[in-house]
Amino acid sequence: MDFSTLASTMQALESTRSRNQMVDIIASLFKQLSPDDVQRSVCLLQGVVAPPHKGIEVGLGEKLVEDAISKATGYSSKEVEKLYLKLGDLGSVAEELCKGKKQTALFSQTLSIEKVFSTFYKIATLSGHGSQDVKISMLAELLNNSSSVEAKFITRFPIGRLRLGVGDPTVLDSLSVMHRGDKSDREILESKYNICSDLGLIAKTYAQDPNSISKFTMVPFTPIRPALAERLPSAKEIIEKMGPCTVEAKYDGFRLQIHRKGKEVEIFSRRMERMTNMLPEVVAAVRDELNCKDIIFEGEALAYNETSGEFYPFQQTMQRKRKHGVGAKSAEMPLRLFAFDLLYLDGKDMAAKPLRERRKALESVLLKNSKTLSLSESYPVKKPAEIETHFEDFISRGLEGLMAKDLNAPYTAGARKFAWVKLKRSYRNELSDTIDMVIIGYFAGKGARTKFKFGGLLGAVYDPNTDTFQSLAKVGSGFSEEQMQSIEGLLSKIKTKKPNARINSIMEPTYWVEPKYVLTVTADEITRSPIHTCGKEGDSPGYALRFPRMYGELRTDKRAEDATTTDEILEMYKMQKRTELSKEGEE
Ligand code: AMP
Repeated sequence: MDFSTLASTMQALESTRSRNQMVDIIASLFKQLSPDDVQRSVCLLQGVVAPPHKGIEVGLGEKLVEDAISKATGYSSKEVEKLYLKLGDLGSVAEELCKGKKQTALFSQTLSIEKVFSTFYKIATLSGHGSQDVKISMLAELLNNSSSVEAKFITRFPIGRLRLGVGDPTVLDSLSVMHRGDKSDREILESKYNICSDLGLIAKTYAQDPNSISKFTMVPFTPIRPALAERLPSAKEIIEKMGPCTVEAKYDGFRLQIHRKGKEVEIFSRRMERMTNMLPEVVAAVRDELNCKDIIFEGEALAYNETSGEFYPFQQTMQRKRKHGVGAKSAEMPLRLFAFDLLYLDGKDMAAKPLRERRKALESVLLKNSKTLSLSESYPVKKPAEIETHFEDFISRGLEGLMAKDLNAPYTAGARKFAWVKLKRSYRNELSDTIDMVIIGYFAGKGARTKFKFGGLLGAVYDPNTDTFQSLAKVGSGFSEEQMQSIEGLLSKIKTKKPNARINSIMEPTYWVEPKYVLTVTADEITRSPIHTCGKEGDSPGYALRFPRMYGELRTDKRAEDATTTDEILEMYKMQKRTELSKEGEE
């Protein structure tokens, strides 16, 4: 299919802010395409050429793209730069200059979706000496053959500025609407997406035959979307809700999903990004110290002092997230992996089996004397007092709290269900858990902060039902001067003139930014507020945070969609009310 069809879809998406309309627009595009083009379009609409676990990113610098525009249109680099300064968006520059190309290609051809996709794929995978020039030529060739609208989107794509706001739920809904006319297949599509994490592949399979989607199964090297935990405020409520259960230590490191097939090993982060190269000691242990052939399991890895038995804080462990000096750091600060769940074993999908069985099987494959791999600590409990005793013990040993788990529950890929419930330490006058917010804008500095150009952040939570980011708080404290500067540096690169289509906010920051970075905040409490859109329905107020402050560093291990959700905030608000009532009862 011609790329112009996809470009006009992109144009239409750019001018709507209604999610239902977006779904209809994308569904009618899908109806016109072959299954292969559906797969390519899903990627192109989301600004990628492959799912995150493949680690293939286009990421061209602006300078290279400017060179390609100049090469394709015949305008000098100076002229391109000047117009960029005026318009503030390279896509609009390409659009403008393609209207009045000074030169036209000798053999101009109509662009197909396949041609555009495969060119970007090649650009992403080229490396080595002279590759920059080849990339510029390839992009220039695309621009040479494009209309002005096509040029706008082709230019924005490689610099990560597509800004169409097409999130995963929007794609899943559009697929269902394509075949069924409504969203009735969303649930099955989502459940399959949760065990495969390759949205393009799901889309292609479904486009071919909607019934074949049920055949999708887990396979090693394709990450599974991680199960998530609910919260409850007390040991008493945990037992009331779950009955007899098991409590595990809650380690504060990074979550790893480990895949092994024969002697080959791959490790993925919580965001399903490939981390294999960063963790040589874990790779070696998984290859040599497991009693099985093929496996997918999960655990939390953290820096751990063998001699003292002490767990290091998260910041120490985070130092292992690096591309250079991996060997030296792994020798200096080896990680220990506390395995807590098993998803797949020697050809068998284990996810549907109860936790009790999964753990038993996991225990049987782990070697007893491994220095790197061990089973997470776990204790069966029946009474609140037993939970409290373990909780105190975990906290006194520097752990984050505990995870209560239902021994009869299956693994709930990609979902937050009461199979897992976390209990963290609650300080006086503080929310019992931190909140992960997506930065959607920032404020210019005032007074003493003028020199940092930075006066606070506008944070939002994610609502997967509407695929939108809803504002929750303005965060103005908790950062060091250094952090302010580095955050401002990052944000200034992703400023946008208008809010992204997925942002829903009444409060207007000085600058809007792409919803990309996640920060963790602590706060005193959740309050109702008319100025924030989190959980806001009609004229009733939304929810906001009282005294939010940044906590730790930016969460590079989370994508915008992994932020705390609107439903979680509503649950936390209810929990807070219950805790207040029980405190009053005690007084
Ligand atoms: P939170 O990030 O606070 O929602 O808590 C969930 C996270 O706790 C998981 O994603 C894991 O990274 C981490 N975690 C630590 N220990 C455990 C455990 N024993 N079982 C499951 N998750 C754990």
